[in-house]
Parts: sequence; structure tokens; C-alpha cells
Amino acid sequence: MINLILFGPPGSGKGTQAAKLIEQFHLIHISTGDLFRYEMSHDTPLGQEAKAYMAKGELVPDSVTIGMLRNKVESHPEAAGFIFDGFPRTIPQAQALDALLAEKGTEVAALLALHVGDEEIVQRIKLRGNTSGRADDNDESIIRNRINVYKNETHPVFDFYGKKGKSQTINGIGTVDEIFERLCEAIRRLL
Ligand code: ADP
Repeated sequence: MINLILFGPPGSGKGTQAAKLIEQFHLIHISTGDLFRYEMSHDTPLGQEAKAYMAKGELVPDSVTIGMLRNKVESHPEAAGFIFDGFPRTIPQAQALDALLAEKGTEVAALLALHVGDEEIVQRIKLRGNTSGRADDNDESIIRNRINVYKNETHPVFDFYGKKGKSQTINGIGTVDEIFERLCEAIRRLL
């Protein structure tokens, strides 16, 4: 099993790259953001709980997010591995992920962090807002809040896996295919 964390600030291209990587390496893609949007669009209790946090660009509480992630992992017992996108976003989420994978006799192989500067991110998310229909993509103050939440709460996860020798930074500037090649190279080195 090969389990990868695709890491990076909002708008760094994780979703785009994850879609290509799962084809190449036959992995299951789990995006907590997509899962929350699905729950919201179906107006489930989970979606209703997540909504207020997402609208402000804040993180949904760990207890909610971790439970949802566990259910999703456990619904794929046949998986050859997972790409986690948008998770873990806090140290407690990282600890929960490690514990969950350990229960299954596996672990995180690597955290691949797409590096893109703040101003580029704001421009990309605003552009995406024209078509994504996401309220959190259409307001610059919410976008900047998401970037701050990333720096304060999420970036420590890079060092958490860095201490285990598992974190790598990938240049996230270039064409989609160029960035994909960089990620593939890093993954091939792990196989
Ligand atoms: P992006 O990375 O482009 O901001 P996502 O789709 O990954 O978008 O996440 C959108 C929102 O969903 C986040 O701002 C947050 O409110 C919520 N969310 C997603 N993943 C998590 C998580 N692991 N923990 C807490 N909240 C999350």
C-alpha cells in the first residue's frame, strides 16, 4: 500500500494533480473539502455542521473531520493506497491519520507539498471563483483568511512529517503537466 498526503495552501493545485495521480498510480483520492461540499449539497447534518466554518474560511472541528475521513477510508478495504487531499490540516488530524493507518498495518509514505506564493494563490482562487460556484472562492478577505489558517494551523503538519523524514517540497509553479511530472518523479523514488 502506498499512502500519500498531497499538501499545500488552498489553490495550490492539489485537486487537479490528485485527479491525474490516481490514474497513474491506481490510488483512491480522498478530498475532505469535496466530501464536505457533497454533504452540504445534500443538506445532511454533517453538511449543516460544516457549512458555517467553510463559509468563513475556518477549519471544521477535528472531531467531525476525523470521523468523516475514517468512514471514507474504511469504505475502501480493497484500496492499493490513498491520496489524501486537504487532510490532515492540523496536528491532531495527522496523529489520527497515523493511528488509523497503523491499525490497518500501513503508514503514510510521504507528504508532497506544492509550493506556490501567496499572491499567485489569491489570483488563482479568484479565477476559480468565476466557475467553481464556491462562496469561499469569491471573497478576497475569506481567501486571505484561508491562507492565514493554512500558515498557522496547517503548515505545522509539514514539520510533523518532516521530523519523520517524509516531507518533500515540490515546485507548484509551471504547467499542469510539468508539476505532474515533478510529483511522479518523487513518487517513483518511493516505490
Ligand atoms: P482549499 O484547499 O482550496 O481551500 P478545500 O476544498 O480543501 O479547499 O477545503 C475547503 C474548506 O473545507 C476549508 O476551508 C475548510 O473549511 C473545510 N475543510 C476541508 N478539509 C478540512 C480539514 N481536513 N479539516 C478541517 N476543515 C476542512
